[in-house]
Amino acid sequence: MDEIELRAHGKINLSLDVLGRRNDGYHEVKMIMHTVALHDGIFIKKERERGIRMECNLPSLPTNEENLMVRAAKAIMDEFSIEEGLSLRLMKRLPVAAGMAGGSADAAAVFHGINQLFHLNLSTEELEKRAVKLGADIPFCLHKGCSLSEGIGEKLCKLPTLPPCTILLVKPAFSLSTKLIYENLHLKNITDAEHPDVDRMIKELESGSLEDICALGGNLLEKVSISLRPEIQVLKDFFIKEGALLSLMSGSGPTVFGIFPEKEKEKAKMILQSLRSGEHKDLIENAWITEAYA
Ligand code: ATP
Repeated sequence: MDEIELRAHGKINLSLDVLGRRNDGYHEVKMIMHTVALHDGIFIKKERERGIRMECNLPSLPTNEENLMVRAAKAIMDEFSIEEGLSLRLMKRLPVAAGMAGGSADAAAVFHGINQLFHLNLSTEELEKRAVKLGADIPFCLHKGCSLSEGIGEKLCKLPTLPPCTILLVKPAFSLSTKLIYENLHLKNITDAEHPDVDRMIKELESGSLEDICALGGNLLEKVSISLRPEIQVLKDFFIKEGALLSLMSGSGPTVFGIFPEKEKEKAKMILQSLRSGEHKDLIENAWITEAYA
């Protein structure tokens, strides 16, 4: 086998709590992440000529060592002294810098792909030890499914996945920097009631209905992001008015998702249409219909 094609799935946060700020500046989080079917396409090919080359359909993304895919490939090729060359191709579909861990998902796919192409026989846990050095979300992306994630996002515990559902995703027509969101998060101004109840959501994932799980969703970062960009609240309100069981910003945003019962897939397609062409169309860069993925 000289080449391999993989899917790099994005994630949403069903719950995101921030517990505190560490001395090194990172925040301690407690969050529930779930992969979605929407994915980037990754192609990896062995080459005779040494070195790592990369191509991407999105000209704005770096294709040098700034790209997490190249960094992941280099880390593992160097460690195992792999002499051959490699070409990487990325078909970007996930929104960039939008709270869906697209870069981390791409890097995780590269770890899995090189492991298979060069028969390294590393377990996912062994890949995880290497991946965490490049980014706290990459271990989750290696496992996919649904996980509780703690620490700075790297301590994982597998959870049951969501019951069947339809998910609408919308990337607003603006960016929000993760750094800016955390700089404006003042935990001392946040009441206990504003923190999402992550533990109760875990219990509901174990035995509850989609409605009960969704009732417990929350993202502590929304307060900051909505104060900076009220359009996020507009999109959340739109999804709820259209019948979403839960609508939240994913991660540090600005992507907003709405979860609908699976039987309402046809209705969700119409909602997607009205998002793209209706009164909110100027707020939107792109929108997708997808589902939970394990
Ligand atoms: P998170 O949810 O972990 O905050 P994100 O969705 O906000 O992630 P990414 O899409 O992973 O953010 O991109 C963040 C930054 O990383 C971008 O500014 C981009 O230039 C850089 N980057 C490096 N490699 C990639 C990649 N393969 N895909 C997307 N962005 C990448």
